[in-house]
Amino acid sequence: MTHTLNQLINNTAKMEDYDPNAMSVTKARHYIKQFLTPIEAIEEVALTASLGRVLAEALTSPENVPNYDNSAMDGYAFASESLQANLDAPLKVVGSAFAGKAYTGDVKLGECVRIMTGALLPSGTDSVIMQEKVRLETAQNTPTIQCLMPTTHGMNVRYAGEDLKRGQEVLTRGHLIRAADVGLIASLGIPKVSVYRKLKVAVFSTGDELAAVGQALQTGQVFDSNRYSLIAMLQRLNVEIIDLGAIPDNPTQLENTLLQAANLADVVLTSGGVSVGEADYMKSLLAKHGDVVFWKVNMKPGRPLAFGRLKKAAITDNAEQLNGFSQTHCHYFGLPGNPVAVMVTFYQFVREALLLLMGQPKPAAIPTFNVVCVAPIRKMAGRTEYQRGLLFADTDGTWKVKPTGAQGSAILSSMSLANCFIVLDESIGNLEAGASVAVQVLDGIV
Ligand code: AMP
Ligand code: MG
Repeated sequence: MTHTLNQLINNTAKMEDYDPNAMSVTKARHYIKQFLTPIEAIEEVALTASLGRVLAEALTSPENVPNYDNSAMDGYAFASESLQANLDAPLKVVGSAFAGKAYTGDVKLGECVRIMTGALLPSGTDSVIMQEKVRLETAQNTPTIQCLMPTTHGMNVRYAGEDLKRGQEVLTRGHLIRAADVGLIASLGIPKVSVYRKLKVAVFSTGDELAAVGQALQTGQVFDSNRYSLIAMLQRLNVEIIDLGAIPDNPTQLENTLLQAANLADVVLTSGGVSVGEADYMKSLLAKHGDVVFWKVNMKPGRPLAFGRLKKAAITDNAEQLNGFSQTHCHYFGLPGNPVAVMVTFYQFVREALLLLMGQPKPAAIPTFNVVCVAPIRKMAGRTEYQRGLLFADTDGTWKVKPTGAQGSAILSSMSLANCFIVLDESIGNLEAGASVAVQVLDGIV
């Protein structure tokens, strides 16, 4: 069942299972997905610039790959029929075939051709025996080979179209291009690809207490670290980042920045200022300029979360300027202020949403699996916790996890030491050392 954001905001749908103050992680993800409109604008880029971009067209193979039957080994090519009657029959070596330099003659029964890996299989041959498995004799200046192992028809031959057939769909629309894909596309001879334009993401921090990194810290101030971790995570996702700085809790400044962000970006990310008890400017500004829900998610860290859309200012005539999935709105995520909570909510909600918005219909889930935790874990049942963990190879060779110390949501060093989240769902309480726990791998994910 789908709802409008307005129905959620005003709870007019009267959904029994919708409680903004007790939102489960799963439900929050589900709702967020309902309100995402992926980017549609397309651009063409050179293959060398395509890494990390999302394909806007399906790619089919214009040719068979490989393009011709060829040898998988350095050895000798022959017709298997030559050895049908007598496995020990000698084969006369009549020439050589190299990759890129074919043997052009016809190979008759009883003959063979010295062949290198990747060389076109000579006419008349169907099998290759590797050079280590023959005895080469050169009696009377006529080289012959004798096979030292049983041969089978087609052995060590790579057939045309074995990797990809002409016309076969190789990569689907919405595929995130990785290094192997760049090579694969090159192997098809395709020099340029159509990709979705980069998602534009504007970021700013909120808070009177924030000091700029590089300046002296006054009593009562903290450095604005959230913007740095957010930008770093966004860099890994290959989006266009619009950095709008740190904004004090001042309604005019916040409003101006919010409007500027909405106009410039497809997605606006803020940190701080969305929890209850804040100088409540963000909340009223978001209500004024968009449709935004405020949730208390049943998780730790990362309880307050705002999500919705913001109106862009008057549409200009220049469609290019606002080209994207929506000319009228941009998406909005209001993340909590605590530094660990920022990262946790980014990983759990924002990352997947951005991948969807970038044009991937089914973003790959973060690898999650169970391992033994070597230390006891303190945890309250009834909420999902994302404790920071370090996956390590134990002396017995198996991978295990240990928590990275104090788990407060402001303790960013616990995050810096971690390479995974230990994901403890609502049903789990305190755990003894040795318990099996789910871990979500962080390294290489964003
Ligand atoms: P808030 O959600 O605005 O109440 O912030 C919660 C906590 O996070 C407070 O201790 C803030 O000082 C801290 N905080 C908020 N924004 C940032 C930031 N950009 N960098 C570091 N800490 C922050
Ligand atoms: Mg604040």
